[in-house]
Amino acid sequence: MTKRAYNFNAGPAALPLEVLRRAQEEFVEYQGIGMSIMEISHRSAQYEKLNEDTQSLLKELFSIPDGYKTLFLQGGASTQFAMIPMNFLKAGQTAYYVHTGAWASKAIKEAKLIGETAIAASSEADNFTRIPDLSGLQLGDHAAYLHITSNETIGGAQFVQYPDTGSVPLIGDMSSDILCRPVDVSKFAMIYAGAQKNLGPSGVTVVILREDLLQDTPKGIPTMLRYDTHTKGNSLYNTPPVYSVYMVNLVLQWIKENGGVAAMEKRNREKTSLIYQAIDQSGGFYRGVVQPEYRSLMNITFRMENEELEKKFVKESEQHGFVGLKGHRDVGGLRASTYNAVPFEACEALASFMADFQKRNG
Ligand SMILES: *Cc1c(COP(=O)(O)O)cnc(C)c1O
Repeated sequence: MTKRAYNFNAGPAALPLEVLRRAQEEFVEYQGIGMSIMEISHRSAQYEKLNEDTQSLLKELFSIPDGYKTLFLQGGASTQFAMIPMNFLKAGQTAYYVHTGAWASKAIKEAKLIGETAIAASSEADNFTRIPDLSGLQLGDHAAYLHITSNETIGGAQFVQYPDTGSVPLIGDMSSDILCRPVDVSKFAMIYAGAQKNLGPSGVTVVILREDLLQDTPKGIPTMLRYDTHTKGNSLYNTPPVYSVYMVNLVLQWIKENGGVAAMEKRNREKTSLIYQAIDQSGGFYRGVVQPEYRSLMNITFRMENEELEKKFVKESEQHGFVGLKGHRDVGGLRASTYNAVPFEACEALASFMADFQKRNG
């Protein structure tokens, strides 16, 4: 019997056991080709099929409308922070950002290197414990786009509703919550996500973008940093991260076999409510960081009375087979990441460990 930890890592994060087993089976010989998928040309019929199948599976599961292209790029979501303003922020325009925490801040930092930026709304005054109200959103006439971070992986706040930006392109960093729930993709001009939280292993970044965004990309942008290079090349301009795309394909198949994205949401709500309940019913022993309305389905952040007790919690949790419950080093506290692949049983075990720890230390 393989011993699997209760994995609450924030990223890279848990992968479904079924996916790992399937990858293991196909590792040495992929579908009768006499070698692994890593050992063949990315121009081979087998890889071209995998590239196409992965795109169509994502289109089906995420209900991506016609008129969008799906790309498999490298460089992580962090490279997107720069590519977005390089490709879409032109002279005389302003790029608008919603500031919701650590990841939004990194996206803003890169855009500032490229051109004019403005903060459309911020929850900094509330210590990023909520998503700012965007109902009265005002974007100037020369808005290039509005960028949001749909789920702040470190702080633990998640958008409930996406803003209506009219004709201004809405761009979403969904690195840590893509496919955790159904989304109206048509609201977005572009969605991107590093794979290593909710889609697969690191090494590939999924970009979904509306084709009309690609008109008149500025000429001076290097080839690899242009979206139109990769749309024209169907993500095969240069060697793609073959194995990572293969793993994303297996994860997408797993989501489909498990009822699709709506079923993921239902299960994620059941999973997280176990842990949020453990927090809310603790009489203040555990304290949720984020205001209840904006609590994430993917990253549950909470604190205890003092850091001493938090340290003890982490240490004992490790002795009980839990991994990854320490909060991000920038914010401290505790965090349980409950991505799609984290089993219900792991969340059940955590909720009961939390109650037990409170009994012994409360
Ligand atoms: C992890 C993360 C990133 C950075 O992803 P990389 O692939 O490591 O560059 C960006 N945005 C969000 C919301 C994340 O969770």
